[in-house]
Amino acid sequence: MAGIYIHIPFCKTRCTYCDFYTATNESQMDPFVAALCAEAKMRSEETGEPVETVYFGGGTPSRLHKDHFEQIFDALFSHFPIVPDAEITIEANPDDLTEEYLGMLSGLPFNRISIGIQSFDDAELTFLSRRHTGQEAVAAVRRAQQHSFNNISIDLMYGLPGQTMEIWQKNLQQAIDLNIQHISAYHLIYEEKTRMYRLLKAGKIRPVREETSTEMFAMLIDTLTAHGFIQYEISAFGREGCFSQHNSAYWKDVKYVGLGPAAHSYDGDHRSWNVASINRYINSINAGTPERQEEQLSLYDKYNEFILTGLRTMWGINLQELRAQFGEQLHHFCLENAQRYIDQKLLQSEDGILRLTREGIFISDGIMSELMWV
Ligand code: SF4
Repeated sequence: MAGIYIHIPFCKTRCTYCDFYTATNESQMDPFVAALCAEAKMRSEETGEPVETVYFGGGTPSRLHKDHFEQIFDALFSHFPIVPDAEITIEANPDDLTEEYLGMLSGLPFNRISIGIQSFDDAELTFLSRRHTGQEAVAAVRRAQQHSFNNISIDLMYGLPGQTMEIWQKNLQQAIDLNIQHISAYHLIYEEKTRMYRLLKAGKIRPVREETSTEMFAMLIDTLTAHGFIQYEISAFGREGCFSQHNSAYWKDVKYVGLGPAAHSYDGDHRSWNVASINRYINSINAGTPERQEEQLSLYDKYNEFILTGLRTMWGINLQELRAQFGEQLHHFCLENAQRYIDQKLLQSEDGILRLTREGIFISDGIMSELMWV
């Protein structure tokens, strides 16, 4: 099994909190798509296994036009062994999801749509520089449902400056009322080089208090699980049978090929990443010498990934697998460091699987770093 990630590096405007590689000048879209198709051809041998998931992320993939998608799908289906029932996801922004655009998307191989909503509160949306209102986001989801998308995910954000528990609760209730299959919810992170970070450093905004963040996270878990969602990863909640297969594959050590500028790839032993520049990406692909950097993963790098990805998910860490893959020393290291968290009921060890408990999930970063090899 393998996955393909496609990075579409265009956005109509820039959101205040975002540090993804993306450009607001869309004039390079045509040559970018041609280069992307050429890269697919060049790297056709790389998956080596049937491709079960394809994910168009960004940036804003919903900025592309019909002919762009047609060219990309032609290239993907010609050069990669994509299985007939592969999960094929597009990330989209609500303001792009018009009747016409959704009609176009529903005629393409997409069978999952991930809508970047973030909030249904108009003041929050303005603060985040999103390009839609809460009502427009609701209407976009309903339109997608009318166009027969029955595997819909939305993104939400919490821990915003000034956000109250009441607003967060309303956002969650609105998400539940939409009758969607999946919700990803992230706490705001102040990434360097973003406008949000500069506002914070200038003292113009104040982060939420730590206790409020914790309460919001608890409300997120309690509310969504009470409404039939399963928290299968720290930030991801899906209905039974509707977990993101693409993201689950990342957490289960599946290989993936990343196409497009700044896209990352993983082959089981190496991580590589394409140059984070649209022009350099296009030029290097056209010259037949793609700009890509690569690092070989050591046993310890792989062990750390195993801990990190295992503990983030409900599947946990399989201790027998850990011993088989990483040897006695790292198995012992993990167990020794896990013990005090097991004693504190922050980790549980059951049937050879090590998992975070409900209490442990709130301090997961600290626990993971203790179990990692430095
Ligand atoms: S959050 Fe999404 S829409 Fe906003 S700038 Fe980042 S990639 Fe673009």
